Amino acid sequence: MVRAHMSKIIYLDNNATTPLDPRAFEAMMPYFTEQYANAASNHQLGSSANQGVRNARENVAELIGADASEIIFTSGATEAVNLAIKGIAESYLGKGKHIVTVSTEHPAVLDTCQYLESKGIEITYLPVDENGIVNMDEVEGSIRNETILVSVMLVNNETGVIQPIEEIATVAHNKGALFMTDATQAVGKMPIKVNEMGIDLMAFSGHKFYGPKGAGGLYVRSRRPNKVKIGALVHGGGHERGMRSGTLNVPGIVGLGKATEVAVNGMKEDRIKITELRQYLERELLRIPDTLVNGHHNERLYNVTNICFRGADADAIIAALEDIAVSNGSACSSVKVEPSHVLVEMGLSPEDAYSSIRYSLGRQNTMEEIRTAVEKTRLTVEKLRAMKVV
Ligand SMILES: *Cc1c(COP(=O)(O)O)cnc(C)c1O
Repeated sequence: MVRAHMSKIIYLDNNATTPLDPRAFEAMMPYFTEQYANAASNHQLGSSANQGVRNARENVAELIGADASEIIFTSGATEAVNLAIKGIAESYLGKGKHIVTVSTEHPAVLDTCQYLESKGIEITYLPVDENGIVNMDEVEGSIRNETILVSVMLVNNETGVIQPIEEIATVAHNKGALFMTDATQAVGKMPIKVNEMGIDLMAFSGHKFYGPKGAGGLYVRSRRPNKVKIGALVHGGGHERGMRSGTLNVPGIVGLGKATEVAVNGMKEDRIKITELRQYLERELLRIPDTLVNGHHNERLYNVTNICFRGADADAIIAALEDIAVSNGSACSSVKVEPSHVLVEMGLSPEDAYSSIRYSLGRQNTMEEIRTAVEKTRLTVEKLRAMKVV
């Protein structure tokens, strides 16, 4: 079995994806075997599959303080973001053709906005400060009468930086625009209440909080103060209140629902445990000379640290770390490797961005793993710096 080999990996790339929680896996199993019916079928087996979907929908709704009818299941956050932004652009065309977002968003948001620009929608990409946070005056100044949507992520996937979305939502609403958040890195890890926070649309994904890949969703407000109406991206049998047709991924949705339940019950415990690991990791890594943390020190989720090791190449560090899985934010385009757009937007030089590593922790990590990761990182960075001809 692969397991014996895999267990040697120290997995600190939980913002890319998390391992599936065994409880979620177990909950999914019957829906691959005996409970194989289409959740839309009227017979007994169908309604039994549908019951699994309904439970999951209620779990997700409860987690975020929504009504079950406001949850639209999709294949993940990328699809949810596409559905939301394209749906709004299409349905609110009569009101305006302007959308506001932030330059450090995930490509799911940035690429969708870029596509809409080619269709005549005007997009404002707000800058961030050196801590990765938007300026409220700039948010306010960017919203106009014809602004239909303000979309700002809650937690940044590369740095963990938390944007002040409640304030942003208030400003957006005061000016008659809807507020959306890509909360993919936040859902299941920190408390979110859509009503209190003024969220009209919110994308999330199961595999970022120990659920299965291929199951996520979009929260779409259907109650006061802003009843949102969006058109479909995928047309077909009218599933998911007409917003996302196609036979439901019942095992995936059930797994997402179970991961949600596990997250609700263990959120505080996870936070305490992971905070302690991150604190140790960060403190020890910062003992290495010429290192610094990228992103706001306090306005940041507890599971991530993004560290710049000046003068050491991140790709070389990752290669040398071998069985330790970490990430650098650089994206490989077909021609060349670009430095992380998030770090560059925060004002890092390309060299510093190329020398930065993201450690993203999960509930399965142990202090022993973190100690090993620190030690190996220290040796690697020292070696790489020593090899460098100056
Ligand atoms: C992972 C991620 C996505 C994409 O989610 P998928 O479910 O893999 O499509 C979108 N936004 C953020 C912030 C993410 O971290």
